Amino acid sequence: MDKISSIFGSMVFNDTVMKERLPKDTYKALKKNMEEGTTLTREVANIVANAMKNWALEKGATHFTHWFQPMTGITAEKHDSFITPSADGGVIMEFSGKELIKGEPDASSFPSGGIRATFEARGYTNWDPSSFAFIKEHTLCIPTAFCSYRGEALDKKTPLLRSMEALNVQALRILKLFGQYEVKRVVSTIGAEQEYFLINKDLFDKRKDLIYCGRTLFGAKPPKNQELDDHYFGAIKPRVNAYMEELDEELWKLGIYVKTEHNEVAPSQHELAPVFTTSNIATDHNQMTMEIMKKVAANHGLVCLLHEKPFAGVNGSGKHVNWSLSTDTGENLLSPGKNPAGNLRFLLFLCAVIKAVDEYQDLLRVSVASPGNDHRLGGNEAPPAIISMFIGEDLENILTAIEKGEAYTETQDRTMNIGISLPQFKRDTTDRNRTSPFAFTGNKFEFRMPGSGASISCPSYMLNVTVAESLRQFSDILESSKDMEASVKELIKGTVAKHKRIIFNGNNYSEEWVAMADSRGLLNLKSAVDALPHFSKDKNLELFKTHCIFTEVEVRARQEIILREYCNILNIEALTMTDMVNKDILPAVSGYIKALTDTALGKKALSADLSCDLEKELIGNLSSISLSLHRSVQELDNALIEVNAIEELFTTAEYYNKKVLSIMKEIRIAADTLETMTASSSWPFPAYGELLFSV
Ligand code: ADP
Ligand code: MG
Repeated sequence: MDKISSIFGSMVFNDTVMKERLPKDTYKALKKNMEEGTTLTREVANIVANAMKNWALEKGATHFTHWFQPMTGITAEKHDSFITPSADGGVIMEFSGKELIKGEPDASSFPSGGIRATFEARGYTNWDPSSFAFIKEHTLCIPTAFCSYRGEALDKKTPLLRSMEALNVQALRILKLFGQYEVKRVVSTIGAEQEYFLINKDLFDKRKDLIYCGRTLFGAKPPKNQELDDHYFGAIKPRVNAYMEELDEELWKLGIYVKTEHNEVAPSQHELAPVFTTSNIATDHNQMTMEIMKKVAANHGLVCLLHEKPFAGVNGSGKHVNWSLSTDTGENLLSPGKNPAGNLRFLLFLCAVIKAVDEYQDLLRVSVASPGNDHRLGGNEAPPAIISMFIGEDLENILTAIEKGEAYTETQDRTMNIGISLPQFKRDTTDRNRTSPFAFTGNKFEFRMPGSGASISCPSYMLNVTVAESLRQFSDILESSKDMEASVKELIKGTVAKHKRIIFNGNNYSEEWVAMADSRGLLNLKSAVDALPHFSKDKNLELFKTHCIFTEVEVRARQEIILREYCNILNIEALTMTDMVNKDILPAVSGYIKALTDTALGKKALSADLSCDLEKELIGNLSSISLSLHRSVQELDNALIEVNAIEELFTTAEYYNKKVLSIMKEIRIAADTLETMTASSSWPFPAYGELLFSV
């Protein structure tokens, strides 16, 4: 067997293992649950638990854990060993169906957004059989959903599973109208491209901003940056290659289909992309991927940065969420086929997405709202904060023809001829538009706004539920129609007319687009703080209620958690800045001033004729900039005192966004200027050039 096949999924209790180790009827019951969402009996769970335990013990596992995704954005686990004391004073290894199905971690230390008072510690984790259990470092990890004592979602998995169910129900209604009774399940699929930076661990350790905040708060631009575009897809350096090889192996063992790896635009930036799978599994896998990326980096003396904007002036990192719809019969519902213009089912699903994106621009923006991402969106490296979609010229022409009631004829031959006799191929129905936040790329949409560090659960469930809502409305209309074809065309026509403002095939980075989007009435929610209030708008609460994604209490709790996190992050960044200025930067500059002074005094001692103008000028400039830096830090201290006195959460977040951030910007400008004027040997931490070009 080749190497990859022999290690792929070796640490996963996957379909092959289940088939091998479970009695036939247990396997069938479990499969039915995974594919159709039927409930599992305790008896089945007991058998599965026992088989899982035996498999895990053979693989060297000693513990098990319910692996879940609280609102912190990272995963959580509490390990229990398999041992149970036996009558003879020894131990036996046990794991019951009950332990598999339900766990009870102390929930009080996870964010609940006020859903749960601190004294109500109880929370439950609940086995998700649709995502395979796996072994990580001698521990059997069981993917679970996490909820409060009263069943409110406290995690990222629960709403995602709920949204997949909603989407399935509504998509099946549409497929029935097209006579596709054989389809039993529709799932959303995701392939998440993950960008990241690799930097040297010894340099990382010298920077408090990287340690505490995951991004640099200071750093003057190096002489060379990404302007030569020589890093993108460039040859991979041996050390990075070794990292990628080990990473691939670790991820393959966990059954994660990593496929593509290449250098990204910025120096030290790279990207990893897996083959797509269901959005639930893709989300679990992406969480595992981020964790393993960091772990493997340590083996190579490296640190993997997943922050959205680790370096100012250098491209940040995103996570492109490629999203589509797939049936259990193997069809991609967003595939245009050979004749898109005649493919009404495709056009209807396309319109469902167009309508969803237009009506719920705010929710898509909310789904990517974080302080880190605010530095990225609109920075001419990532899409702006305005949501629009790219569908390409061909599809737009088709939709326009339908809207106008005209016949559509394909005007272009898509056979490629590049002028030499290479094998012929047809070009795609759409070109790429790298500036679009939400681009149709042949048979899927690519949502390019998500940040590199965040879970993809939120973008996924927002897409699922908003498209489910479009499909629900479409089905309501079509189910009572006498002439399906005419009604579908009518529906497409109406949808295009109403929602075409969201379609934009041009350059999203341009100034003109910002103005045009405004005239089209599209939202431009520049910061997370501008976006988050939209989460609990009436229309959105209604949407979540209709599809059983969230109750109002759950929405408000989530909103509160994200806002609190926003404030906490800014507070940590501000305190780190103050600390670095007071304890490192100002003392370093003073030291350099002293060295300059000593030089001048030395010169004078040598000869009264020697000019000390250079030292004087440098000392003068360094002193005055240091003083203004010191004043700005004092201003920041005061702002932090002021913001702590504000009680209302939105007002607090707004204060951080407006006031605190702007003082932080001033501090940065002053400190970076000092860096350019100070001797490298006197500067207290590694400069951008070293961080970005030394791996
Ligand atoms: P890019 O050109 O944007 O860098 P890549 O080839 O790196 O594109 O990544 C494309 C991603 O889209 C991959 O993760 C791939 O698995 C995913 N993808 C392809 N088809 C689908 C689909 N039907 N549903 C979801 N994701 C898909
Ligand atoms: Mg991409």
